[in-house]
Amino acid sequence: MRAARFYDRGDIRVEEINEPAVKTGQVGIDVAWCGICGTDLHEFLDEPIFCPSAEHPNPITGEVPPVTLGHEMSGIVNFVGQGVSGLKVGDHVVVEPYIVPEGTDTSETGHYNLSEGSNFIGLGGNGGGLAEKISVDER
Ligand SMILES: [Zn+2]
Repeated sequence: MRAARFYDRGDIRVEEINEPAVKTGQVGIDVAWCGICGTDLHEFLDEPIFCPSAEHPNPITGEVPPVTLGHEMSGIVNFVGQGVSGLKVGDHVVVEPYIVPEGTDTSETGHYNLSEGSNFIGLGGNGGGLAEKISVDER
């Protein structure tokens, strides 16, 4: 599949990469739409801010460049992983792109958006919406 991947300041490439695996508790999504955020522009024009660099891997995902960009996406569920109960193939979805540390309380009262070291799918790793497909946790 094709994906727009961030390598470094001024270096984004559209490349062929493998489709993401759908792990337990995840769904696969055919991306329908993805915005280009001002943050994406700052990553490209200035320096890695949320994106990892070769010297500074993302502390949660462990990823270094290249990472797939795109954190404002919608799509259609194309595969339901083991243990997923709230979504089915064909559902139209949007992705809340938070990357939070393992064990973080992601309930509505958990304030997980303020977790130390939190980041975003499509910047810090775990794929991105500027690709044909993505796999994300059911939540
Ligand atoms: Zn954004």
